[in-house]
Amino acid sequence: MIFMEKLKVNYILEQLELMFPNAGCELNYSNVFELLIAVVLSAQTTDVRVNIVTKELFKKYNNVYELANADYDECLNIIKSLGLSKNKTTNIINLSKELVSRYNGEVPSNFDDLVTLSGVGRKTANVVLAEGFHIPAIAVDTHVSRVANRLGLSDSKDVLKIEMDLRDKIDKEKWHKAHHLFIHFGRYFCKAQNPKCKECPFRNNCFK
Ligand code: SF4
Repeated sequence: MIFMEKLKVNYILEQLELMFPNAGCELNYSNVFELLIAVVLSAQTTDVRVNIVTKELFKKYNNVYELANADYDECLNIIKSLGLSKNKTTNIINLSKELVSRYNGEVPSNFDDLVTLSGVGRKTANVVLAEGFHIPAIAVDTHVSRVANRLGLSDSKDVLKIEMDLRDKIDKEKWHKAHHLFIHFGRYFCKAQNPKCKECPFRNNCFK
């Protein structure tokens, strides 16, 4: 049974790699701190919009100490075009203060510490671990959830259960790549509305 599941998931990943050979992180950042801020800002908006905002944000506050001392209204003014901008402003200033006071200005490289930071949940921590520190992790967002359900890799709607199902079925060294492939597939092909089912290599085994 487990062998069959592995065969299935490896086939899916091979097909997705053919479809999206350059699948990777679409947020712009130049260090792990900027990655963390960008991921916190990315909730309920697009990476494209985040990249527009962070271009200005990181120019004005170019390290953790500057953002920790940022004026709330000035910071809010930069990110106000994003949804949830008040909460996000509070969170990125507070998490910068926490990094300075508790971690010597460094982003911690373990899950338990990451999720203690303001605005950092399980998904954000997993993205930072995988993308920023190359530590195997699977971050489950709306695209990964939908794709996992439709491809029959998880029948749960609960993001933690979906993450655990994917961790069980996918070889650890492929977790990070699989995360990007599922996001690209969900974002550009197997969309929530009007997925491209007629062209889909998985159409005969889809659980939609
Ligand atoms: S057949 Fe359609 S819904 Fe199913 S995985 Fe493919 S694109 Fe998604």
